[in-house]
Amino acid sequence: MTSSPLNIAGHPVSPDHFINGARVGSAQCFEVFSPIDQQLLGRVAEGGAADCEAAVQAAQAAFPAWSALGAARRKPFLDRLAEEIGKRAEAFCVVESNDAGVLLSRMRHGVVPRAMLNISFFAEHALGLQERPIETEQAHHRVRHDPAGVVLIITPWNAPLMLTTWKLGPALAAGNTVIIKPPEWAPLTCSLLADCVAAAGLPPGVVNIVQGSGAGPGARLVADPRLARISFTGSVATARLIAQAAGANLVPCSLELGGKSPFIVLEDADLDNAAATAALMYRNAGQVCLAGTRLLVHERVLTRFKEVMRGFVDKLTIGDPRDEATEIGPIIHPRQLERVKGFVERARQAGATIEWGGAPHPFGAQYYQPTLLSGVAQDSEIVQQEVFGPVLTLQGFSTDEQVVQMANGTDYGLGGVCYGETAHATAIADQVRTGFIWVNSFGIRDLAAPFGGIKRSGIGREGGDWSFEFFCDVKDVVVPKKPFKASFSHR
Ligand code: NAD
Repeated sequence: MTSSPLNIAGHPVSPDHFINGARVGSAQCFEVFSPIDQQLLGRVAEGGAADCEAAVQAAQAAFPAWSALGAARRKPFLDRLAEEIGKRAEAFCVVESNDAGVLLSRMRHGVVPRAMLNISFFAEHALGLQERPIETEQAHHRVRHDPAGVVLIITPWNAPLMLTTWKLGPALAAGNTVIIKPPEWAPLTCSLLADCVAAAGLPPGVVNIVQGSGAGPGARLVADPRLARISFTGSVATARLIAQAAGANLVPCSLELGGKSPFIVLEDADLDNAAATAALMYRNAGQVCLAGTRLLVHERVLTRFKEVMRGFVDKLTIGDPRDEATEIGPIIHPRQLERVKGFVERARQAGATIEWGGAPHPFGAQYYQPTLLSGVAQDSEIVQQEVFGPVLTLQGFSTDEQVVQMANGTDYGLGGVCYGETAHATAIADQVRTGFIWVNSFGIRDLAAPFGGIKRSGIGREGGDWSFEFFCDVKDVVVPKKPFKASFSHR
């Protein structure tokens, strides 16, 4: 039984799963609300045991033919998939804005073009990866990147379309078949993606989508021994559960997790530029894994930096994300809002000074003011734990050694930002232990470059060749140049 489509501001979205090329409804459903005004957007299928089993079987059955096509013959399918996303650009923008509270302007100018590129870039990149020869005196080696099998993709709610396609592109281009378990707080754009998969003519079973909770179909799927890979983006707590389940079956998993990244402002920084960029850390209401949420500012420029940053923050437009002028939208869910409030309240009780913000924002029930807390100790909860809301901390430092120690002084190691005279800032950036760091800039990304974290921020890298190292089985085929004579003394 399939269900009638939901109507999301005039755009039809199926609330069903997508398994073996067809929509599949569920007796069990969960409710999805808009973070903008708490309106019920609809009831979405909650995957049960039979749905998970059907998805795994469909992906397994589709694997031999899809993997045998080779990268060149898969590419037209993926190029069409990217085109189909482009054809539905407005639907993706409107639906994700209503479902996840992401700015409509950001969807239009950033996320949808990037989602298309996430598919087409990896389709192209796969062409160069199929075989790498290594010639030695003894033998020809052919290093192959073979498809691995059935891949499970699990993504969080803060950027569902971007993060799902970022994994889907290379997984499919490598010749794998895929099961997606979308985030239950923002599941709707993944459903639109299924429409694109069907319209692009991908064979049934190559992409399957099982909707539902983490504890339900999420936990069931990650424990399946038939998976070849699990690619996860989300929180550290969930990653631990997934790694345990994957470990029981020795299924390799890639984990892109949270961050508590340093934003360093050296004494020789251009303060206006640094402060303008620091205000950007409130983007998406701070629900951005790679944001530099710990401002570490040289004591000699700290007061001035704070004044300049305040000027930028005061001008931010907080409001409805569907309004083109809005710069900061809502917090995804009442539970996430409670989490943000709890962090700020506990920091306040521990003696932190609220420089600005520190309370819900009057625009709506799920809005929180951009907040800056100073007077915070390095070992305090607010400095050590990821808030995932519009809350930054401010700490002063007086030497390069001290700031490097502070920057490295959490369990996280995702990203970082360092403002200062370029050579000086680069020297500091080199000493910060993270997966990536931006010097005098923020957010510059390239799909060929590695992305990922160290320490509690994750295991593995995505992007370019790194995505294929994960999604492929690398095999060395060795053919000797001279006739091989068997011998027990042979090495
Ligand atoms: P989450 O870990 O709660 O959920 C992420 C996904 O995991 C959801 O789809 C959820 O249903 C699923 N899940 C939950 N429990 C599961 C289980 N037991 N088994 C299988 N799946 C399960 O994270 P969230 O709250 O949705 O997202 C916020 C987190 O994601 C933050 O920590 C943020 O930093 C992180 N994040 C990281 C990156 C990155 O690239 N490093 C990007 C975006 C977000």
